[in-house]
Amino acid sequence: MRNNSMDMFDLAGKKALVTGGSVGIGKACATALAMAGADVAIADIDDRTGEKTAEGIRETGVDCVFIKCDVTSKDQVQAMVAKAVERFGRLDIGVNNAGIAILGGDEELDQSAWDKVIAINLTGAWLCCQAEAQQMIKQGQGGKIINTASMSARIANCNASYDASKAGVVHMTKTLAAEWGGFNINVNCFSPSYLLTPMHASTPLEARQCIRDLTPMGHMERPEDLYGTIIFLASEASNYVTGHDLLVDGGHTLNAWLAPLGRHIPPRVSPDQEVAQLKKDLDAMGVEYDENGINEDLHPEIADAFKGMLGLQ
Ligand code: NAP
Repeated sequence: MRNNSMDMFDLAGKKALVTGGSVGIGKACATALAMAGADVAIADIDDRTGEKTAEGIRETGVDCVFIKCDVTSKDQVQAMVAKAVERFGRLDIGVNNAGIAILGGDEELDQSAWDKVIAINLTGAWLCCQAEAQQMIKQGQGGKIINTASMSARIANCNASYDASKAGVVHMTKTLAAEWGGFNINVNCFSPSYLLTPMHASTPLEARQCIRDLTPMGHMERPEDLYGTIIFLASEASNYVTGHDLLVDGGHTLNAWLAPLGRHIPPRVSPDQEVAQLKKDLDAMGVEYDENGINEDLHPEIADAFKGMLGLQ
C-alpha cells in the first residue's frame, strides 16, 4: 500500500533505455526518467552530443551511459539492449524515439527518402520494441515500452512518408500491447505537436507565431512539456494503460482553425522560454543560432517548406 500518491511515479531502481536520446525529445525523455530516479542508457546515431548528454544526466545523481546505435540495424539494436543490460543488470523501460522527417512533396519525393523515413521511424521502432520485449520477457517481471509517435499520425501536416510512419507507430503500438500484455509489458506511445528541438531549429519565426496562434495553449511545445507524460507512461501510475496514444499537443489538433485564436491572459510559456532548451541542445551540438534559436542551415528543407506554406518565398 502506497503512503503517498506521488510514490506511484517513483522510478528509483528502474533501468531505462532511450533511443534518439542525445538531443530534443529523447533527451527530454531521458531527463524525465532520471528526475524520477531511473538509471538511463541513451542510444543515438549521433555521438557528438550523446556523451555530453549522458554526462549531464549522471551529474543529477543517477547512472547514465551513452550507447552508439543505428536503430535501422537489427544487430546494432540487439547489441544496444545487451550493452544496457550489461551496464544495469536488467531493463524495465524502453523509449523508442529516434526518428527523422525528410520534407518534400510526394509527387516528386525520391523513393530513397520514403525508404529512409520508414526504416528509421517505423522499422527501427519495431526492432527496438522487439529487442526490449525479448529482454523483459526473459526477466519475467513485465516492463514499459513507450514509442514516440506524432500528431502527424492523426492529421496530414507533413508528407506521406512521415505521416504514414507515425500512423504505423501508433498501430504497431496497439498490436504489440495486445500481444505482450500477457507478459505484463505495457506498450504505449505519445504524440507531440510542433516541438522546438533541433529538428525545428530552422523553422522560421513567422511559422512559430502561426503555430502559437493556432494552438489553444498559446505557445509552441518544448521538450520539458513531455516530462509528465513520460514519467506517467514509465511508472506504475499507468499500469492499466496499454495500447494508448497520448496526444500532447496543447490542443493544436482539436479543430481546423480558420483564424488566430483569441487569448484572455498570456500563455504559460513565453517565446524566450520556448527556446531555452533548444539553445542548450544547439550549444551541445556546436551549432550556431540567432537570438531566437534559429539556424536556417541545419534543416533548410524544413525552413523552405514552412516558407512555402506561408508564402514567404
Ligand atoms: P531531433 O532533434 O532530430 O533528434 C533525434 C535524434 O535521433 C538525433 O540525435 C538523431 O541523430 C537521432 N537519430 C536519427 N536517426 C537515427 C538512427 N537511425 N538511429 C539512432 N538515432 C537516430 O528530433 P526530435 O524533434 O527530438 O524528434 C524525436 C522524435 O520525436 C522523432 O521520432 C520525431 O519524429 C518525433 N516528433 C518530433 C516532433 C517535433 O516537432 N520535433 C513532433 C512530433 C514527433 P542525427 O541528428 O545525427 O540525425
